[in-house]
Amino acid sequence: MAQLRTDVRYIKGIGEQRAKSLRKLGINTLFDLISYFPRAYEDRSVFRSIGSLLPDDTACVRALVVTSPRLSRIRKGLDIVKLRVADESGSMDLTFFNQSYVKDSLKYGSYYVFYGKVGGTLQRPEMTNPVFEPEEKAGSITGRIVPIYRLTASLSQNILSKAVRQGLEQTDSLIPEVLPNKVRERFNLSHADFAYHNIHFPADMEALALARRRLVFEELFVLACALGLLRSRKAEKTGIVPGNADVEELYAALPFSPTGAQRRVIGELMSDLLSGRPMNRLIQGDVGSGKTLCAAAAAWYVYKSGFQTAFMAPTEILAQQHYNTLTELLSPLGVRVGLLTGSLGAKRKREVKVSLALGEIDIIVGTHALLSEGVDFFSLALVITDEQHRFGVNQRSLLTEKGENPHVLVMSATPIPRTLALIIYGDLDISIIDELPPGRRPVETFGVDERMRPRVMKFIRRLVSEGRQVYIVCPMVEENEALNIKAAEKYYEQLKTRVLPDLRLALVHGKMKPADKDAVMGAFVRGETDVLVATTVIEVGVDVPNASLMVIENAERFGLSQLHQLRGRVGRGGHKSYCIMFCEGGSENPRISTMIKTNDGFKISEEDLKLRGPGDFFGSRQHGLPEMKIADLSADMSLLSDAQGAAAELLESDPNLMAPENGPLRKRIEELFEVYADTFN
Ligand code: ADP
Ligand code: MG
Repeated sequence: MAQLRTDVRYIKGIGEQRAKSLRKLGINTLFDLISYFPRAYEDRSVFRSIGSLLPDDTACVRALVVTSPRLSRIRKGLDIVKLRVADESGSMDLTFFNQSYVKDSLKYGSYYVFYGKVGGTLQRPEMTNPVFEPEEKAGSITGRIVPIYRLTASLSQNILSKAVRQGLEQTDSLIPEVLPNKVRERFNLSHADFAYHNIHFPADMEALALARRRLVFEELFVLACALGLLRSRKAEKTGIVPGNADVEELYAALPFSPTGAQRRVIGELMSDLLSGRPMNRLIQGDVGSGKTLCAAAAAWYVYKSGFQTAFMAPTEILAQQHYNTLTELLSPLGVRVGLLTGSLGAKRKREVKVSLALGEIDIIVGTHALLSEGVDFFSLALVITDEQHRFGVNQRSLLTEKGENPHVLVMSATPIPRTLALIIYGDLDISIIDELPPGRRPVETFGVDERMRPRVMKFIRRLVSEGRQVYIVCPMVEENEALNIKAAEKYYEQLKTRVLPDLRLALVHGKMKPADKDAVMGAFVRGETDVLVATTVIEVGVDVPNASLMVIENAERFGLSQLHQLRGRVGRGGHKSYCIMFCEGGSENPRISTMIKTNDGFKISEEDLKLRGPGDFFGSRQHGLPEMKIADLSADMSLLSDAQGAAAELLESDPNLMAPENGPLRKRIEELFEVYADTFN
């Protein structure tokens, strides 16, 4: 008797050879096989009469073989079988290339069902290489909705669908129902059995829709439960509890008054810190919403009890800027802030490490350098990472290993819909800053094409004459980074020598030495340059309040969220600010029109998600979460939030899923943890 975990090679009808091909698709067990969902379907369920066929139709036809198939050998390696078939409405010629067996399998005087693309003319329709089945046996590859699978070279659709069919036959009554009855009923979800059958071999379109909906829900629900368990498992650890401190003391020392959203989020951080469990929290907020202050407040709180904070940023420039900000905000309160980056000299690095180990630094800001061996803390209690999706999950945990269950705070500058954040950052609680500091004016946004270039250059000149500064950003246009930099350099030279020779220009790109980069950025921050030409290195977080114009070249090459990030670089001071995007079609360009319509990062990210899909959105699966088998995180958003709600409710009533009726679900989750051990640990 087969089990769900039975290796596919032991399944009737699947030999060693096929099993090998299946393994290439990641199909090892019987359950893998039936969970290998089609990527598309072909509707072969509607029968057409020959007389109604038009050239280029793809159709299913029930017809009688009216001539004996003739096999002719055109030349070596080219056989042709020809025959004619007919129904009451007309006749049709069939041609098969290199399928000489057809000569014997199609019998004169018998009925078959054929499926294929119609060629020939209206009067004389024909089909080449149609698939077919004897009429009395039709219903497996013709006369129904047929699954289309993702294949490898050594498999065909027919072989795979046969294998799946066999798999399904042998799992009869084995398919576990992981959804609690209550959930199934409440959300009108079909039974597991029905769903697994109909997702492969749907009875009709309606059954397919039902099956798909159920399986998407199942996938999201299982993942949501798994992540929920994970959160509570982490919560079982004990976290360092700092002593109580009055955050008003911090607020009183700030140059501004925190927004309501900042106060709320800081309150959430405080209660995490005092909970006795390690904090695991993500702060999401639009560019410029003031995430840094929230992080600073948590660090200050921890400092008040004599503990240390590590603050990791993805780039040197950002680390430097955070270092500056934190020093400004917190050093008046006695907090000692340190900086550790790869570009520091060996001597300086050593000094910083020693101070850190002795507890003479309260907050250490740095890049990946913080992860290196020999960076030891005196009393690390809080780990903050900025722009999390740039760090792998593992890097985050490397840093936490430098303390004992330290609190973890992650800041993301890419607002994403909350439901999705729950998946991507599934093991984190989420705080959202949904309010910008007062006095921000929306950045006026334009999409323009090449014809506007002279006017844009004039505009740059005007703003500079008013004392403002300007960014010009060039995208990655080549796979090859060296070529990109060359392109940026060339463009920069051209601007500098010909277009804007009277202005002070500088260039910054990703391949520059950190020290050079910092020098250029530093000069721009101090207002010593007017126009900064940059590749996307400035995308993340640099703060120059005097910059009031962002010009983006080839805007169509950026994702919407990236464009939004870039736009967020301006409008940070009191000056009226602008974003001008060069792109094909100007303001008619659909991406650009989204940017013009809204300044809301959450809305933009939703749109981005729709345009690009979650895969691209998050880059090369850096989030490290399980790949979705069937759910489409951008399209199945409402199911996602239903599934998350249901999962939360279930975990509320049965926190460890120990109730007998939740057994199948628990088992499925355990398997998931096994497969993705790296991710979940
Ligand atoms: P982000 O969320 O993009 O990291 P920052 O923390 O860098 O935003 O803050 C953006 C700018 O807004 C900074 O210059 C910061 O000093 C300023 N800022 C933050 N909070 C407030 C506030 N409550 N009132 C006024 N300015 C603020
Ligand atoms: Mg920031």
